[in-house]
Amino acid sequence: MAYLPNLVLIDHPLVQHKMTLLRRKETSTAEFRRLAREVSMLMAYELTRSLPLETVTIATPLEETDAPLLAGKKLCFVSIMRAGAGMLDGMLDLVPSARVGHIGLYRDPATLVPVEYYLKLPEDVRERVVIVVDPMLATGHSAAAAIARVKESGATQISFACLLAAPEGVELLSEAHPDVPVYAAGLDRALDAHGYIRPGLGDAGDRLFGTR
Ligand code: URA
Repeated sequence: MAYLPNLVLIDHPLVQHKMTLLRRKETSTAEFRRLAREVSMLMAYELTRSLPLETVTIATPLEETDAPLLAGKKLCFVSIMRAGAGMLDGMLDLVPSARVGHIGLYRDPATLVPVEYYLKLPEDVRERVVIVVDPMLATGHSAAAAIARVKESGATQISFACLLAAPEGVELLSEAHPDVPVYAAGLDRALDAHGYIRPGLGDAGDRLFGTR
């Protein structure tokens, strides 16, 4: 197994159970979507573990007390189109006030370089903690390009979250962006010759949207 110091595997039993249901080929589109949402919500819990808190004074119905609230920078989720959308709802269930950005990339068939065809980020993204989401970290090229684009916008505190990762993708991403931790609910064996993660779950976009 490759040495993957940037990888944070979410090994919570509930996440692992739901990932097994998600992977099964019999799982329907509706069920796949629901499971992706639930796993993403549980991942958001881990991803936000180190958010800073500040103490504020509040009044309960009985007395005043000091209590913790999230401090300073707030969150922005950036979805890599189109499959990233399958992780947004779960994350927003947990952090409803987060802002959302979208980035669309396709691979130029001649150069194999990812080309941006859509970008919309919140104006204040540079002040936010950014979590870039895409269910499948396969080669890592799209994720690396998306994160580079987010960095160009001025954001400095960035994480990447996926449902499944291939070791090749984690390695490429960690080399391109050593400062970006990679959160995954599963780490699979390898990429196949067609760029699919094995054993994987198939095409995440098609399974989320029922397009095949
Ligand atoms: N994208 C997918 O949807 N599935 C894979 O296995 C690899 C990339």
